[in-house]
Amino acid sequence: MKKIVLTSMMTVLFTAGMTNCVKAEPAKNEPPAHFYEQNTMSTLWFQQAGEAKALYYQGYNIGKMRLDELLNNKQYNQALKPAIVLDLDETVIDNSPYQASLVLNGKGNPLDWSEWIERAEAKLLPGAIDFLRYADSRNVEIFYISNRNETHKAATIKNLQKLGIPQADKAHVLLKQEKEHGKEARRQAVAKAHDILLLFGDNLGDFHGFDGVDAAGRRTAVDKHRNEFGKKLIVFPNPMYGDWEEALYQFDRKKSWKEINKLRKQHLQSISK
Ligand SMILES: [Mg+2]
Repeated sequence: MKKIVLTSMMTVLFTAGMTNCVKAEPAKNEPPAHFYEQNTMSTLWFQQAGEAKALYYQGYNIGKMRLDELLNNKQYNQALKPAIVLDLDETVIDNSPYQASLVLNGKGNPLDWSEWIERAEAKLLPGAIDFLRYADSRNVEIFYISNRNETHKAATIKNLQKLGIPQADKAHVLLKQEKEHGKEARRQAVAKAHDILLLFGDNLGDFHGFDGVDAAGRRTAVDKHRNEFGKKLIVFPNPMYGDWEEALYQFDRKKSWKEINKLRKQHLQSISK
């Protein structure tokens, strides 16, 4: 999970726990309000743009088509159980109200990330529930692999169950263990007895082969896997935060907001003079 990077970076520093982050040291200096305001547009887009909604429907529609194709033609390892793997935050459920609170109020006000999770009030994203119920009706096992901390397991399952999400139980909701980095180990554990037909996520880290890669390397890796998108890997849009942003800062959570701001500007590709 998650955050915006100073909404992102600093926020992570403040809320430690949304993602696969290690506990960070306190920020050197508190970012000013205008720094958080940089996430006004991305959060507005996520909450208000019909285009954002359409992309979620698009992703889940493609998922259903692929699931039908693979199951109907038995295009999977028959010795294993068919399964799908989904991320939770900004894939199945919507934490943008938390992001909006950061933009409007600065860090964690009125709730920090942990308190927001414990409220178990995140809403569904478009298309998710219909797709998940369909997959469940086709006897596909559904695993929710999230980098929320294991300590939030009860609240996370409570939130999912309130929304009527199928297979939302201890065996299928796999959260980040202490000292764990990334999701690969959990995917491998699922793959021992299951053929993972499809993976869904808003972060490339929700798929194999992208952990810890810098921004340019991530783009190159996407080119390499180009044929997998819409086929096995379903990506959702998240302009608010993610590894895409942290990669710009070399995943260094100790950087000050001024350094982060500088790096943001440096990475903009403008018109040449
Ligand atoms: Mg996510």
